[in-house]
Amino acid sequence: SSPVSQASGKAVLNGHVPSATNAGTSDRVQIINDAKEFTQELNPQLSTWGLRDAGFDYDIVAVFGSQSTGKSTLLNRLFGTNFDVMDESQRQQTTKGIWMCRGRDMNVLVMDVEGTDGRERGEDQDFERKSALFSLASSEILIINLWEHQVGLYQGANMGLLKTVFEVNLGLFGKKTQDSANQRTLLLFVIRDHIGTTPLANLQATLTADLQRIWDSLSKPAELQDRKLADYFDLAFTALPHKVLAAEKFESEVQALRKRFVDKSNEGYLFKPAYHKRIPADGVAFYMEGIWEQVQTNKDLDLPTQQELLAQFRCDEISAGASAEFNEQAKSQKRPVEAGRVVDGLGGMMRSWREQALTRYDRDASRYHQGVYKRKRADLLAALDSTLSPLFVGQLKNLHKASLVAFKKEILDGLHTEGYNFADVVGQARNRCEKRFVDGAKEAVVAEDEAAWNWEEELSLLKEEIKLVADQLRKDETKKMVNTIERNFKKFIAEPVDLNLSKAGPDMWDNILRTFKETLEKSESSYLTKARSFDCTDEENTTALATLRQRAWIALRAKIDEQTADTVILGKLRAYFEERFRYDENGVPRVWRPDDDIDGAFKKAKDQTLELIPLYSKIAPTDPSLEFTPPAFSTDEQDEEFDFAASLTVFSETKAHDIINRFRREADAYYVEAKRSTVSSIAQ
Ligand code: GDP
Ligand code: MG
Repeated sequence: SSPVSQASGKAVLNGHVPSATNAGTSDRVQIINDAKEFTQELNPQLSTWGLRDAGFDYDIVAVFGSQSTGKSTLLNRLFGTNFDVMDESQRQQTTKGIWMCRGRDMNVLVMDVEGTDGRERGEDQDFERKSALFSLASSEILIINLWEHQVGLYQGANMGLLKTVFEVNLGLFGKKTQDSANQRTLLLFVIRDHIGTTPLANLQATLTADLQRIWDSLSKPAELQDRKLADYFDLAFTALPHKVLAAEKFESEVQALRKRFVDKSNEGYLFKPAYHKRIPADGVAFYMEGIWEQVQTNKDLDLPTQQELLAQFRCDEISAGASAEFNEQAKSQKRPVEAGRVVDGLGGMMRSWREQALTRYDRDASRYHQGVYKRKRADLLAALDSTLSPLFVGQLKNLHKASLVAFKKEILDGLHTEGYNFADVVGQARNRCEKRFVDGAKEAVVAEDEAAWNWEEELSLLKEEIKLVADQLRKDETKKMVNTIERNFKKFIAEPVDLNLSKAGPDMWDNILRTFKETLEKSESSYLTKARSFDCTDEENTTALATLRQRAWIALRAKIDEQTADTVILGKLRAYFEERFRYDENGVPRVWRPDDDIDGAFKKAKDQTLELIPLYSKIAPTDPSLEFTPPAFSTDEQDEEFDFAASLTVFSETKAHDIINRFRREADAYYVEAKRSTVSSIAQ
């Protein structure tokens, strides 16, 4: 049968009465017939429709979708066309081919595809692909029509077909995008018999994800590798209620959708200028014929041979069998790895499972079509590795953790041994820890491919953590050492300070400060000797030494405070006074006689004793070189800002006054007692 332009007779059957003012608008033209030939009638038909001189002022829309999903019905409702609709009562097959109508009262060319269900016969599948590619390449908007229940079903919704179509479209027409901005196409998904329980947004998300997946899996020409779906396509989604069960709602929604095709002022207007192919109307027929020509001669669209079909089927089956056993094996180690265990010999196991699966696949599948066999093998390998990868990564994480735990334990053990050298202990533990990780990681590597089985990154993370732990341990150790030195310092100065404070004299502070300095110097050199084995930084040493000096001074001050507390200092003054008043120069207790100069002796002893108070009041050596230069007192360990200058004062003036008064009262008592003793001696 040759391409024909049909008269409007059939349109009446479909309920569309041709309008007198739109001459010829209800005509249909079969632009591609069932012999896959492009019509020669399109140009005359465009003239009949009054569109040949329309310039760019026209649009093209086409539809894609499974057989009997209400495509023709939808087009007729939207555009007032009269495509054949399957008659329920006769269930007759409509004539195969691509049909075109002009939209009623609008400059729109509408294309409808008729065919038998492509999945049943190879011949029709071929036509289905070619017509889909043709529609996609030639129209501004491709309506993708599908039942709600087809959403998410790869086969059911013709998504597989879409993949091939995208792939070939990209290969044939994709490159034009670079120099012409007019290669965008809108994919308008119309979801039919939408019940409403699943919101449109969810269906939209599923379809978008499917489409994205398809796009990602396309084998793209090298120079278009990085092209995104969005570089070529806009996506739009709409849903329609059930035509029979919700007839009114269906009608109103269809009308709303129609407005988006017709009304340029509509917010959702669909024929955006970016989709227009910029072919003047009088060139459209030639342009479309050219596209069909390319589609027809493209080898990629040809059906696979029977041999390939068989190979696909069998290789898939064999691959699935090999994967099943492999998955069981891999599953056995999933739990221990997830539980944080380092599984001994995991790498060996993984390599052997993988090897077994491939051997099994090769044994049975290599007899089939080589191209298919190899492609499916690559797919299988990718699937195997994507199962093994989490085990590998998990093993590395566990190794990392276990190595670090062992590292810490080894150091702590080392720090308990007599005479350890901190730097050596840490260095040895670090080497063993890293070796343990690297050995384990190398064992776990499944294949040569460096990117997929990389462990260097995890190793550098481990190294960072080792350093943190070592730094912390060193800080702790340093602190511990400073504490020990401080304790020893206190022990060393206790007695000399006590002694000197009890032997009041002009060089009392000189002696005390000399002892302090000597002891401090010993402490500092003892710190430096030990710090050498710690690999401490200069800054850490400076801080530690400053802390040590500060603490030493505070310890000295505490000792002085203890020895100059009220009762203690009064005791010292009393002893000093007694020694001078109650004993003679030879240390013999005095027995007072009435003619003795008690008043003179009392005054002398008292004045000498009172002279001690200013001496005790301030830490002041006679030799200025013995003055202590304090470190910049830091506020670490939450000290209040330490006032060194103030710390030189032992008694405030008030305190000195108070002590003087108290001492005087005690001395007076001794005087009275001395006087009394002479009275009693006269009385005898
Ligand atoms: P096409 O093969 O995709 O073009 O489908 P048709 O438009 O020829 O319609 C096939 C059958 O589905 C016809 O009997 C229509 O009455 C019916 N049909 C059309 N639209 C709808 C719809 O939205 N929902 C349902 N359930 N049936 C529809
Ligand atoms: Mg149809």
